[in-house]
Amino acid sequence: METDEGMDSGDHRAQVIVVGAGPAGSAAALHLARAGVDVLLLEKGTFPRDKVCGDGLTPRGVQQLVRMGVDIDAPGWMRTKGMRCVCEGRQVHIDWPGSGSHPDFGLTRSRHDFDDILVRHAVAAGARLCLETKATGPLTDRAGRIVGVSTVVGAEKQPKNYHAPVVIAADGASARTALAMGLERDRSKPMATAARRYYRSEVRTSDPYLELWADLLCSRTGRDLPGYGWIFPLGDGRVNVGLGALPHRGRGAVDLRATMDQWLTRMPPHWELREENAVSPLRSAALPMGLNRRPQYRRGLLLVGDSGGMVSPWSGEGIAQAMEAGQIAAETVALALHRPVGAGREQALHQYVSEVNRRWGRYYRLGNTVADLVFARYGYRPLLSRRVMASPALVRTLARLLTDGTDAPSDDLVGAVVRSLVRMVPAPSRRARVMDARRR
Ligand SMILES: Cc1cc2nc3c(=O)[nH]c(=O)nc-3n(C[C@H](O)[C@H](O)[C@H](O)COP(=O)(O)OP(=O)(O)OC[C@H]3O[C@@H](n4cnc5c(N)ncnc54)[C@H](O)[C@@H]3O)c2cc1C
Repeated sequence: METDEGMDSGDHRAQVIVVGAGPAGSAAALHLARAGVDVLLLEKGTFPRDKVCGDGLTPRGVQQLVRMGVDIDAPGWMRTKGMRCVCEGRQVHIDWPGSGSHPDFGLTRSRHDFDDILVRHAVAAGARLCLETKATGPLTDRAGRIVGVSTVVGAEKQPKNYHAPVVIAADGASARTALAMGLERDRSKPMATAARRYYRSEVRTSDPYLELWADLLCSRTGRDLPGYGWIFPLGDGRVNVGLGALPHRGRGAVDLRATMDQWLTRMPPHWELREENAVSPLRSAALPMGLNRRPQYRRGLLLVGDSGGMVSPWSGEGIAQAMEAGQIAAETVALALHRPVGAGREQALHQYVSEVNRRWGRYYRLGNTVADLVFARYGYRPLLSRRVMASPALVRTLARLLTDGTDAPSDDLVGAVVRSLVRMVPAPSRRARVMDARRR
């Protein structure tokens, strides 16, 4: 970490710097720019570019896109009605609940297009985008507070420093900026790995459901996969096929490639999910889950999306949470900047941690426990037993738990039961809050 108290020319300075232009960073930059804040968005790559992902969005994600002004009726977006869960020859269709302000449909779009669309919206809103600009570390003042970032720019790796009193880390699972500020990952929280590949499949590409398979076996151990497989339609002739898994409790990491090969042999031939129809390599990446990096605000630095470990431990969904956290961070920072530098502004910035924990704290705590006790041992099979699949109320409960719909107001009994269940989860203990306060 470099210390830096100086300031340089105007284009290197902003009110806020956002590191990383994935969904979290673009959302944060867009909402800040809309609030009239001068924001610099630094991205190490260029657009469009690929990102290893399942490309599936729940209604919660759709809500964020609408909020950002993205035209989801334009060509290229594929609407989904819900999920189809497959287990031991049984299937159940779970339509998106459409509760509260969430729409009743989901979407798919390849991240190649998706991230490009989002970053363009951020720029149109007024964010200043610097591509091929890789943040290499935080710049700090004598008190250890972040005051900017050092970067290397372009193929020549030209060093350049950028300055701002507030920095938002949206640099994904590597969490380089957070780590350099001493925000380590909590290793007790779940960390999954997922792999995906694109196939051409005319039969499956326009399926209105996201399909999840819960009865996959690990190739190495022959035991239940501590995760699930998916087939997500893209509507353009392709499907995104992948699987995600936690480390198998007591049996180590899962061989995703071999397990996927084994799974694909179970697919009906007319789905065309064969080697000759593959249109990409199989690629994998990590899924940091369950709010695994805390506190989410410290000494001028806010963590959003994967850099704060915000992937849902229930489902592996992370795009919606990344955009939502970007929005919360932007609103918090925009308000805080109206206060004079000092204790009042600091207190306002700390509100980000409270809001993240209000939205996801209890729900993720319950999810982390379920991931540890159930998913890491038996996968998703117990959730999709014959009994659960035969009960519409249990299936609706499951849908709400898996799709982060527990905070949406609803007037049905299932919604009330799920909300009460989550409210019963204890808030972070006094000890955890004291530890967070010490880390600030
Ligand atoms: C195989 C797989 C399948 C998945 N499927 C789904 C799914 O179907 N639905 C879903 O909701 N979620 C899914 N996820 C999770 C989802 O991909 C992530 O949660 C989401 O991308 C997080 O967004 P983010 O903006 O926080 O990070 P990212 O999308 O990782 O964006 C980070 C950005 O920061 C940039 N960056 C990194 N380091 C630096 C640096 N030093 N300087 C400048 N820029 C930097 C990167 O280039 C990138 O553009 C999946 C994940 C995996 C691995």
